Amino acid sequence: MRPFIEDESFRIQGLRFIDVLPRLDDDEALLRHCQEYFDTDALRLPLPFRWCLRKPGIYGPLIVQAVRRFMGMLSGQFMGGATPDEAMTTIESLRRRDMGFSLDILGEAVVSEREADAYQEHYLKLIDEITPRLQQWPSLQRLDKVDGTRGPRLYLSLKVTSLYSQINPLDVRGSIEGISGRLRPILLAARRNRAFVCIDMEQYAFKEIILKCFKTVLMEPELVDWCDVGIAMQAYLRESERDVKEMIEWARERGTPVTIRLVRGAYWDFETVIAKQQGWAVPIWEEKPQTDACYERCLALLLAHYPTVRTAVATHNIRSLALAMVLAEEFGLSVGQFEFQMLFGMAESLQSAISALGYCLRIYVPFGEAIPGMAYLVRRLLENASNQSFLQMGVSQEYDPDELLPPPCTSAVDATSAVALGTSVGNDGTGSELLPGFRNEPLFRFNRAEERQQFAAAIDEVRSQLGEAYPLFVNGSALLTGSTIESRNPARPQELVGAVAAADAAHVDRAVEGAAAAFIDWSALGMEQRAHLLLRAAARLRKRRARFAAWEIFEAGKTWREADANVTEAIDFLEYYARQAIHLGSGGRLDLPGEQNFFGFRPLGVGVVIPPWNFPLAILTGMLSAAIVTGNTVIVKPSSQTPVIAARFVRLLHETGLPAGVVQFLPGAGGTVGEHLVRHPNVHFIAFTGSEAVGTRIIELASKLAPGQHHIKRVIAEMGGKNAIIVDSDADLDDAVVGVIRSAFGYQGQKCSACSRMIIVGTQYDELLERLIEAARSLKIGMPEEPGNYMGPVIEAAARKRILGAIEQGRKVVRLALHVECSVVGSGYFVGPTIFSRVPPDSDLAQKEIFGPVLSVMEANTLDEALAIANHSSYALTGGFYSRSPANIERVKREFQVGNLYINRPITGALVGRQPFGGFRLSGTGSKAGGPDYLQQFLNPCTVTENTLRRGFAPSL
Ligand code: NAD
Repeated sequence: MRPFIEDESFRIQGLRFIDVLPRLDDDEALLRHCQEYFDTDALRLPLPFRWCLRKPGIYGPLIVQAVRRFMGMLSGQFMGGATPDEAMTTIESLRRRDMGFSLDILGEAVVSEREADAYQEHYLKLIDEITPRLQQWPSLQRLDKVDGTRGPRLYLSLKVTSLYSQINPLDVRGSIEGISGRLRPILLAARRNRAFVCIDMEQYAFKEIILKCFKTVLMEPELVDWCDVGIAMQAYLRESERDVKEMIEWARERGTPVTIRLVRGAYWDFETVIAKQQGWAVPIWEEKPQTDACYERCLALLLAHYPTVRTAVATHNIRSLALAMVLAEEFGLSVGQFEFQMLFGMAESLQSAISALGYCLRIYVPFGEAIPGMAYLVRRLLENASNQSFLQMGVSQEYDPDELLPPPCTSAVDATSAVALGTSVGNDGTGSELLPGFRNEPLFRFNRAEERQQFAAAIDEVRSQLGEAYPLFVNGSALLTGSTIESRNPARPQELVGAVAAADAAHVDRAVEGAAAAFIDWSALGMEQRAHLLLRAAARLRKRRARFAAWEIFEAGKTWREADANVTEAIDFLEYYARQAIHLGSGGRLDLPGEQNFFGFRPLGVGVVIPPWNFPLAILTGMLSAAIVTGNTVIVKPSSQTPVIAARFVRLLHETGLPAGVVQFLPGAGGTVGEHLVRHPNVHFIAFTGSEAVGTRIIELASKLAPGQHHIKRVIAEMGGKNAIIVDSDADLDDAVVGVIRSAFGYQGQKCSACSRMIIVGTQYDELLERLIEAARSLKIGMPEEPGNYMGPVIEAAARKRILGAIEQGRKVVRLALHVECSVVGSGYFVGPTIFSRVPPDSDLAQKEIFGPVLSVMEANTLDEALAIANHSSYALTGGFYSRSPANIERVKREFQVGNLYINRPITGALVGRQPFGGFRLSGTGSKAGGPDYLQQFLNPCTVTENTLRRGFAPSL
């Protein structure tokens, strides 16, 4: 264990290697991974070791044997066996040492309802099978008596997230229903069999659901008077003291005690990384002494409230253990009225000491297969290796006794004040290297009731504004015209979202003329002034973000998270381009004696912005803000499916103080108003995002010189994709299934970045496909304004018809593995997740963009084959790779030809500044939205050189 602890890079590499090991069945793969992980210059391993790795012919079998033995030893140390029988042997040996147990069946990631059923089944079976065996044990006063009466023999620990695959912090009620449907039978079986069940606490995102679920189920008539049940609470959370108080209050009202297992918390790294990545307040105490102090406060609270609650003091920390003993004595608690708990394989000398002192000590014993057990094992190793861990500081030989002194922080901080709505806190590295001062707008976390209520209130407010009329904006005047575009809710087509005035050719001419007039003053303003206008617009949008998101729900059929992400992206574009414009505005100089050189930019002139409907706010805002901040004036022709959101954004810009004529708003049919704009001789550029067919048509039209036109029109075109995710033979399949599902079916597959091809390498095809099908089948489909739904409708009737047509065509030639029928959902344009299996790489299914929830799965024997299939496309937008082979990851980075490549994560959701977005081939002209060189496309570069030498005299530099 020592090297893990002492060398950071070896520790990381070692943990990563351990993580992939259970997936390496064959020796060749194991050896190859050994070489890839450990024969690297970065690690500086001793030369003899590296030399052995390089001679696999001689040392290979030895290395394989040693690694497998090491793995066995590790699992043996922290896990109580692979099967119930092995676990039985473990708990029997604990009992011989006067120690109790709590069994936990490993299996954390549940991606489908079928897997959740299986997890429930395991627990029910375990209770049935093991209880009679335990009854034969001779009684042990210390362990078998609770409060002087006979207590349960079988103790179980349970992760409720494994009981429901669609758990969703947004949908607390639905999640509780989903979990309790499977939890209730387990609890009833436990009660019948006199077993004890403790609910584990997991990631912060699920805390509210877990606590509420616990309280809800235990108030049900069949369970309200049952006391053999408990829940873990984590002292590393800033909110834990408040939660403990609420739990005590609840237990008092219930009238029957429950046990609280007080732990510090095992997801420290995870919670910190996720919060920092997302720009959220870190929910846990960041310094170990703060957690220690919180643990002690919670401990005192709990022990003081015996018998309302019983306490399981789950810690390996000597100071906490000692404090518990002292407090128990102070409160007059005897053995049997509280207990200690420790983890199997951790701090064994401490375990023996506590047991020798006569206390009741229960050991948490996880058991199960190696693959589902990996997450647990890695958590234990991380804990053992963390330099903040008490095990390292307190139990090792060299601990500093001062570490055991009272923790410096003893006052509780109001946690809620630190987690303000949508505030960006401590998100180091989120784009700051790319552009100083820029931070991505954090998404709503949705795990706080206030956030959800704010969002729900915005939906209600917007609902009351549906059906309004929206005018054109030409030269600062609002114009209603004779014809309108009716925007309808795709989830409920009878609902009119808004009636937007439609322009005609005459309006186009007036708008271009007005934009040309406005260009004179607007282009003369400095970049900085224009940038400040963008920043003001960002601030205004930020204030109204929930309302704008609600409009997306009604007009574009986006679910809550998708809608929120689109609005934050729009804010990001405004913030990012404003800063970049300021940066560009200063230009560049290179002065020599007698010669001044200036390099700068000039705006192009009048432009047209043509966005698609699928990111109706973000893409519109991105193209529009880039165009105007650089000094151009524009005419916006919104998509006819989402003109209301566009109208509202243009209105917001004008409210912000945008001069009349800088942005004209001209809704209308693409083929008439759109084309008229593109052909117009006074238009200088077209910023377009949409389909390949329309994009290439615009490029063609724009390339023709109209009479009187003295410039070449520039076209910035972002187009379609047929994006693939390759899953390598050593990939983490839990991650891969979740990532592919999110990429393929998020927003109903209607993202240009969506995954529509999945390529599975090696022999895992059937297993992975099966899991994927079940995961897709489990997704909740319904009205997008209901927060529990994962999928809403597709954008319009024509889209639904087109997608269903493609499915019909596809099933004539390829096996349809899944098509979820949506007829029950209502009159909306719903299409369920659809998966085709063993799709030929040349077929239409694998080559044509369908732009809906349709996934083609393909098989490849090798990574060579997989890459060839992935690159065999006329598009090159996004791509993904799930793998734990460092060499394969490097290779894919080089050879996968896409604009945006994602490794071991979903392929949608690019963030401004962090993942500049855009593709090549027929996916686009190669520009990168939200990237460092995007603005230059809206500018003409120019150089000014002045000879400052006059009669041999030059000003000094
Ligand atoms: P679309 O091409 O049908 O329409 C896009 C826009 O072009 C709309 O505003 C439409 O009114 C307008 N338009 C249509 N015909 C026109 C014409 N002849 N002249 C001028 N304008 C015309 O695309 P869509 O259905 O709105 O969006 C879906 C497509 O967009 C998909 O192909 C998707 O991959 C692509 N997309 C690409 C990106 C990217 O960044 N690469 C992002 C989002 C969407």
